[in-house]
Amino acid sequence: MPELPEVESIRRGLARRVRGDVIESVWLGEKPEPLKSPALEIVAALEQARIAAVRRVGKHIVFELESSQQSAISDQPKQVPRFARDDPPGGRAQWIVHLGMTGSLVMARPESEIARHTHAIVRLRSGRELRFVDPRRFGRLSVVRDHGGFAPGGQEPLGAGARQFAQLFRGRRTPIKSALLNQKLLRGVGNIYADESLHRAGIRPRRRASRLTGEELARLHRAVQQVLRQAIRAGGSSVSDYVNAEGEPGFFQFEHRVYGREGEACRKCKSVIKRVVIAGRSAHYCPKCQR
Ligand SMILES: [Zn+2]
Repeated sequence: MPELPEVESIRRGLARRVRGDVIESVWLGEKPEPLKSPALEIVAALEQARIAAVRRVGKHIVFELESSQQSAISDQPKQVPRFARDDPPGGRAQWIVHLGMTGSLVMARPESEIARHTHAIVRLRSGRELRFVDPRRFGRLSVVRDHGGFAPGGQEPLGAGARQFAQLFRGRRTPIKSALLNQKLLRGVGNIYADESLHRAGIRPRRRASRLTGEELARLHRAVQQVLRQAIRAGGSSVSDYVNAEGEPGFFQFEHRVYGREGEACRKCKSVIKRVVIAGRSAHYCPKCQR
């Protein structure tokens, strides 16, 4: 499942390619699962909208949409009408894509073959298409009518200061590994980056979050931010079939110190990396480096 660095890599590639383009029309498939908003609402919000920006919120890709007519008239007053049901299509809205386990957003030429498991095709004025493909159908497409209205909760790990970060874990009796995965606390950190952060911070995954010292939480805060930044620079981790918007893999999997390395030697101390299961998720750690 793509985590924050992979989604960020995809977002950057998409932003370069589609920002400023106008959505001419939208085709949605028959399968109901990928649609979190009603199909008609998605079509109404997207068609004739201009893609003003592509942002990331946790593991969600958020396309900021504005009316393509409005953007053509620059000396109009700043006030933007709210996008109500009866408004003409193309009012301000957000198109939100969650890739789930196997979802991808692919840029394609209209004449190129439509891959199996394509659930949405967004035709752009530039003549290209943005296609949403998802074999396992855990990905979700939705729209929010208010600009800036999408708020999934949780802190952006790269935006949180040390004190804010420490606050999240106060009084949490769950293992720190589970707390890091809790999207209501931090958004975007999944199994890979939780394990990698805990190794860099020297903290065992099963430790109770509430029992970590201030010093340990400060180390963990630094480790989470460092790991995520390094992974973004490397284009993310390609563990299963992840590729970015250009179809290229990431390279951070070569920097993994513990994730997926059960039975191998710790890169720091040569001890054997262990794997345990915590709340149904596997956790990898070095018994010597992590306490
Ligand atoms: Zn070690």
